[in-house]
Amino acid sequence: MTYVVTDNCIKCKYMDCVEVCPVDCFYEGENMLVIHPDECIDCGVCEPECPAEAIKPDTEPSLETWLRVNADYAKRWPNITQKKDAPADAKEWDGIADKFEAHFSASPGTGD
Ligand code: SF4
Ligand code: SF4
Repeated sequence: MTYVVTDNCIKCKYMDCVEVCPVDCFYEGENMLVIHPDECIDCGVCEPECPAEAIKPDTEPSLETWLRVNADYAKRWPNITQKKDAPADAKEWDGIADKFEAHFSASPGTGD
């Protein structure tokens, strides 16, 4: 089991999650974060910290695509352990449906 970051993180990217992870398994893309499924120890501490409610346990149904996205991009993007400022328009994107199709960026973030 692992936790996964899902659609609503895109363009919200508040980063409260990275501060609490005991094993530093978040990786930063240009406009979202992902969790490395082999490094996550399933502690669940990050889930309630996410203001966008974007972090889910992989035991929830229909998360196959997100499991794949998290596993793939955790290998390509830099590690992030320190919270940065959220995007100025993060609130406006919170709750917008289907952001992955229209707004996902495969580009890496800058990491720590
Ligand atoms: S706290 Fe939530 S929205 Fe913010 S970066 Fe972490 S997963 Fe994404
Ligand atoms: S469940 Fe725990 S180990 Fe996994 S990403 Fe969240 S805080 Fe890190």
